[in-house]
Amino acid sequence: MSYLEKEDKEVFDLIELEHKRQNEHIELIASENFVSKAVLEAQGSILTNKYAEGYPSKRYYGGCEFIDKIEDLARERLKKLFNVKYVNVQAHSGSSANMAAIRSLINHGDKILGMSLDAGGHLTHGYKLSFSGQDYESFTYGVNIETGLIDYDEVRRIALEVKPNLIICGASAYPREIDFKKFKEIADECGAYLMADIAHIAGLVATNLHNSPIGYADVITSTTHKTLRGPRGGIIMTNDEELAKKIDKTLFPGCQGGPLEHIIAAKAVSFKEDLEPSYKEYMVNVVKNAKALADEFIKLGYKVISGGTDNHMILLDVKSTKGVTGKEVEDLLQKVNITVNKNSIPGDKEKPMFTSGIRLGTPAMTTKGYSEEDFRLVANIINKAINNRNDEKVLSSLKEEVIALNKKHPTF
Ligand SMILES: *Cc1c(COP(=O)(O)O)cnc(C)c1O
Repeated sequence: MSYLEKEDKEVFDLIELEHKRQNEHIELIASENFVSKAVLEAQGSILTNKYAEGYPSKRYYGGCEFIDKIEDLARERLKKLFNVKYVNVQAHSGSSANMAAIRSLINHGDKILGMSLDAGGHLTHGYKLSFSGQDYESFTYGVNIETGLIDYDEVRRIALEVKPNLIICGASAYPREIDFKKFKEIADECGAYLMADIAHIAGLVATNLHNSPIGYADVITSTTHKTLRGPRGGIIMTNDEELAKKIDKTLFPGCQGGPLEHIIAAKAVSFKEDLEPSYKEYMVNVVKNAKALADEFIKLGYKVISGGTDNHMILLDVKSTKGVTGKEVEDLLQKVNITVNKNSIPGDKEKPMFTSGIRLGTPAMTTKGYSEEDFRLVANIINKAINNRNDEKVLSSLKEEVIALNKKHPTF
């Protein structure tokens, strides 16, 4: 019997149920993944007991000799992974990384230009309910409604008009490659800093499957729990020494207190994994699988935003294809043990609570060993579910099919 089971049966039972859900569902949320047992062990370790405000060899607490070595390992591995000079591994999340990065570059009240939320940008890129839209004067660029692509001439036009102090590129729901060099040219032309938020595509960047913002963006931020397959957290990177010092100060004591050293240890473990050739193979498969998924949906007659994908995700317009909202499809697929999220599509006329689209990603199920063939089957199951959405009998047989498909792959 586990300690947890003995001490707190309520929490234990709920974790067990969530474990079962993670094993029996097809996880297609593009921002999720399954970490290794080694990562889990590090983040569940006794390192959580330690206070270590400050940075390695400059701490405000005693007893940090081993913690320092762990954080240094995380930093060195991360530098190697992205070929970058300065890193900070203490951000508790992608959002805190963004807060510290933005505050290091510009002043309260300055202008920021980021991708709009409905075009695929992130809350922290200037959305009005986020600090980024409240502490700064925020402006947005979107994508071309017909092509679904970023129109760099349009970004340039807006940038020259707005004259932002900071341009933010990077997205949460953009299936195509982002041209960091073009963003840098635009930023230079209007005298703005450039921040690249690679939260979603970090794994592709680290394995050269996507062009790198290093050398173009002044600051690069990311999460560690999406394609990088590490613990839930954030990172900040730069090649500029002065800026690096500023970022360290802005994150601590500016935005955070004591770092989560158990998470930093787990970050170190995941960066080691990410440096292995097997991780590159994994990322190659993630992209291949996303292309197979897009291709199968196109064959089934769906409108795939931008006509396909360059990365780990696809966006489907279910409203124009099948007359159902993203929310209806999200709820429907829940019944057949497939987890997706509703997502706005370019020019969406549905409210954000409903949306016309869904976003599907391949990182999590590729970790479980799903092949292109499996993903094509998943597309067909989703299509059948949508076509038979009022037929409980068909839906329950699809659910059995999903559970059987998952049994074919190693459980977690
Ligand atoms: C997920 C994401 C984040 C935020 O990460 P959290 O850890 O959820 O705070 C930031 N930027 C982008 C582009 C993201 O996709």
